[in-house]
Amino acid sequence: MYSEKFLSQVISWRRDIHSHPELSQHEQRTSELAASVLESLGLEVKRNIGGFGVTGLLRGKNDSKTIGLRADMDALPLNEETGLEYASQTQGVMHACGHDTHTAMLLGAVCALSEIRDNLNGNVKFIFQPAEELNPVGGAPGMIRDGVLENPKVDALLALHVWPLYETGKIIMKSGPQMGASDRLFIKIHGKTAHGSAPDQGIDAIMIAAQVINSLQSIVSRSVSPLDSAVVTIGTIKGGYRYNVIPDLVELEGTVRTLREETQSRMPELITRTAKGVAESLGGSCEVKYVKGYPPLVNDSGLVKLASDSVIKLFGHDSLIIPEHPELGAEDFAFFARERPALMAWLGCRPANIDVKDFAMLHNTKFAPDENCFAYGINYFVQTVIDYLNIL
Ligand SMILES: [Zn+2]
Ligand SMILES: [Zn+2]
Repeated sequence: MYSEKFLSQVISWRRDIHSHPELSQHEQRTSELAASVLESLGLEVKRNIGGFGVTGLLRGKNDSKTIGLRADMDALPLNEETGLEYASQTQGVMHACGHDTHTAMLLGAVCALSEIRDNLNGNVKFIFQPAEELNPVGGAPGMIRDGVLENPKVDALLALHVWPLYETGKIIMKSGPQMGASDRLFIKIHGKTAHGSAPDQGIDAIMIAAQVINSLQSIVSRSVSPLDSAVVTIGTIKGGYRYNVIPDLVELEGTVRTLREETQSRMPELITRTAKGVAESLGGSCEVKYVKGYPPLVNDSGLVKLASDSVIKLFGHDSLIIPEHPELGAEDFAFFARERPALMAWLGCRPANIDVKDFAMLHNTKFAPDENCFAYGINYFVQTVIDYLNIL
């Protein structure tokens, strides 16, 4: 295996990054660590791409192709509760989405691929990306605007995300949509205030809000094909002044998830029309603000075929899992996947002896991925890069 020599180094990088987490757009220390490793191995390094983004170019024996490998670097505004000895030293910030492991594994792949650079049938561009958690802005669009996919042109991209639903040793991928689009929704409902005993003299914004919330669910059941997927979730509702006063204002906030860009693009109009129609039919009015976030993540079928073969070659058939359904969580690697053929695979990171229901999931303050998954991640990257560069 390619990773053996570097595993203890990768674990110490990961623990160092884990104990010094940085929020989106503040990844200064983490990006400097990545850049210094890339420089020490003689790669061509560029800093400050789309914020704290860093790239390292490893030139192979020819320039026929360039494959990009991407890791994200940012942490979340959470208070860590893992009790690990290398837990976050920054109050209120935690690597709860495993981006510390992504950065460390990619550095492991840098080490392993550097050793065989003279045999590589093309180039590898390592991409360390900031601000993945900053929906709807993200970190990928800034790097793309700053030219990360050019000079030399990146032909295809790979990424990994640790995935606690699956055991260590499994690599999970599917063709087509693998993760959803994630948009945000803000609705203000206006009515007219009155005494609670005299509803006829007012326009009840709370009652209108209840009808709006119900009607929004009918968009999913009646306006989206039953063979497609969409979710509208209202996560907050704020309104009212006192138990016996009819309120004139209710504010709702929510999220909209879809799996296809065509469905995503229809949602603003469907939601606005429904919410306004309901509010006006009851004598009130309503403002809708729809903020488009990350697009759906669509994996390239050719890359899935190639990478599946690489996984089987490395670890056998049992390691490869093709999930039946996509997930509606969002991932800003989707912006890269819109520009080039791309594949994000999930990496099982739950010890086999711990049941799913007893293991903390992503964005949980107790999330503690199994470090034994690193070898799988690094070897996956290395083998898939070799196999991709060797196809004609
Ligand atoms: Zn996350
Ligand atoms: Zn993540």
